[in-house]
Amino acid sequence: MAFDYDLFVIGGGSGGVRAGRVAAQGGAKVGLAEEFRMGGTCVIRGCVPKKLMVFASGHGPAIEAAKAYGWDHAGGKFNWTKFQPMLHKELERLEGIYRKNLAGAGADIFDARATLKDAHTVELSTGETFTAKHILVATGGRPFLPDTPGAAELGITSNEVFNLDAFPERILIVGGGYIACEFACIFNGLGAHTAQWYRGAQILRGFDDEVRGFLAEHISERGVDLHVGLEVERMERRDGRIWVKGTDGREDVFDQVLFATGRVPNSGGLGLEEAGVKLGRKGEIVVDDYSQSSVPSIYAVGDVTDRINLTPVAIREGAAFVETVFNGNPTKPDHENVASAVFTQPEYGTVGLSEEEARAQEPIDVYCAAFRPMQKSFIGVDERVLFKLIVSQATQKVLGCHIVADGAGEMIQLAAVAVKMGATKEDFDRTVAVHPTMSEEIVLMKTPTRRD
Ligand code: FAD
Repeated sequence: MAFDYDLFVIGGGSGGVRAGRVAAQGGAKVGLAEEFRMGGTCVIRGCVPKKLMVFASGHGPAIEAAKAYGWDHAGGKFNWTKFQPMLHKELERLEGIYRKNLAGAGADIFDARATLKDAHTVELSTGETFTAKHILVATGGRPFLPDTPGAAELGITSNEVFNLDAFPERILIVGGGYIACEFACIFNGLGAHTAQWYRGAQILRGFDDEVRGFLAEHISERGVDLHVGLEVERMERRDGRIWVKGTDGREDVFDQVLFATGRVPNSGGLGLEEAGVKLGRKGEIVVDDYSQSSVPSIYAVGDVTDRINLTPVAIREGAAFVETVFNGNPTKPDHENVASAVFTQPEYGTVGLSEEEARAQEPIDVYCAAFRPMQKSFIGVDERVLFKLIVSQATQKVLGCHIVADGAGEMIQLAAVAVKMGATKEDFDRTVAVHPTMSEEIVLMKTPTRRD
């Protein structure tokens, strides 16, 4: 049977664009539909705009530190009206690059919503239909909003936060995951009065327990009014602001309430189940190790499969899919020891197992150092950094590395190479320190803090 396309990709985000571009470069006839903006969550309303706001917010504390270091003229206030157009100009530039690269590789781009008609046919919101030998669903995820009274009408999510008309003087961040913590630190650093409420017992569920406590303490010390075990009971518009009642009876007023209460796969209304594609409990597309769904011609990559929901992982999954399907080289995306960073202030970089995960697996040695770095202690800032290695007692391999410090996102990328290569504690020990740095501690920890 002749098809219109060798590959039709639904979704122009991290995973979809990589797969579409590489397949087209290899000579496949590729079509891709994007219903919103090319680049997807990462470029338009995720990693990139968030990181630019992280950079902006870091200058608040840096100005204070500059004063303490002897600078006379440091000062000023964050100007949202100046920053926001610059932010959107940059996103437009990146969106253009994504579009250009994909079109340059020879793919056809359709600015339309796509749904499945059957295992080999997609229908666009323009009314056009196309057949394809393979269909790749790369539709990502979307924010989940709880059914708290007032949340849907008055709350915002990460989808809206980059488009606010005015900078909020007082903002409430609801949630305790990495996105919630990052936005709490961003707004706090930019000078907003920032509260963060999380219903669980501790922020950053799923990460190393010791780090969770350490970060919660430091986020609070930097000025975020953080409360755990607290939810929004209801919220109402009052005198132009948002009145919020908490489950412990407290009442407060904010200019914005940002719900970062989890994300769900974008799999609804796509015609997936009608085409026979099996979905999991959260609505994620169930795929095998090669990203193939229960329908042989339909594959899925990225957040819609809810494996590891990070941009570089979606990109690797997209590339592995092309290698498998178009290059005759069956390739499983590698989900082992994926490093990641939480861009809080201070940052958290992590690779490998948490102490709890490692202990459940085998006997371990834990090396841990928490100390005041030179840069802070010089100006009397009582803030510590944390370096932690989790080591297998049997093999002496480093199973996990955790760093909480300014710049930890950059540091962990390099440590991840060593961990991925299977470095042992001895390999770390025989690496000569770079002095004076904070990160030299990672090669200087001689005695285990704990052995279990
Ligand atoms: P997406 O990038 O979400 O792309 C999916 C695309 O499909 C979207 O453009 C959507 O409009 C389109 N689409 C959906 N349905 C249809 C349809 N029916 N027809 C046509 N188009 C459709 N990851 C990191 O690695 N580091 C970070 O620091 C980081 N920060 C983040 C911060 C925030 C606030 C958020 C929300 C996410 C962050 N992420 C981060 C996660 C990262 O953005 C995602 O893991 C990544 O974008 C997933 O890529 P994807 O290709 O699966 O989906």
